[in-house]
Amino acid sequence: MNEIINRLRKVRKGAMFIIEAPSGTGKGTVIKELLKADANIKFSVSVTTRPPREGEVDGVDYYFVTDAQYDEFLAQDAFYEYVNSQYGSRYGTLRSEVDSFINVGQDVIFDMDWAGARQMREKAGADVVTIYLLPPSIKELRRRLENRGTDTQEVIEQRMGIILDKVSHWNEFDYVIVNVSLEETVAKIQRIISGERMKRVRQVGLKGFVRELIKEAKES
Ligand code: 5GP
Repeated sequence: MNEIINRLRKVRKGAMFIIEAPSGTGKGTVIKELLKADANIKFSVSVTTRPPREGEVDGVDYYFVTDAQYDEFLAQDAFYEYVNSQYGSRYGTLRSEVDSFINVGQDVIFDMDWAGARQMREKAGADVVTIYLLPPSIKELRRRLENRGTDTQEVIEQRMGIILDKVSHWNEFDYVIVNVSLEETVAKIQRIISGERMKRVRQVGLKGFVRELIKEAKES
């Protein structure tokens, strides 16, 4: 039985789960919980030119780079997708980061904006699953942003200003969840992940498995 389980593990191609939400919706916490609960889900650490916030760790939350280093990645065509953020900083997803997981059947979670999601969908097609989290209300969103205490009032106003623009892209996503309760949202995403893992297109090695089954059937 173990041999069969191992064989089946090898036949799956990892999926790319892109989670997007307006700032303050609780996306970061949701992603942390998903990663904690399933060792087969990896986080795609993005490159950014913005400075680290308090508590953020280089190589864990982001790869924090200078503009010159970012330009070097661009010149090497090292990014799957990249974007100049409305906040004045630049962000990018490294190909090397993603491929090393997908090719060994591990799923990858991305924290990226709708523009990045669009680029990823164009480049990676069926490997990409997109999930949008809506805040329960705008009032609640402002309260969460202010309580987070990581941004200046000016940045909060800026973030609030572009929320409308962000929310207008909700209908480009495969799944949409209103993030009322953290536990419920995490459970819903886990169910999405389970379903997506079983899709035939992801189980790329099933052909070989079925061939073996047929051979076995003929021989028995
Ligand atoms: P923050 O500065 O608050 O960490 O992120 C700002 C925005 O940039 C968020 O919407 C976040 O999802 C997005 N972002 C983070 N990393 C990437 C990335 O690699 N690519 C793209 N396109 N967006 C990203």
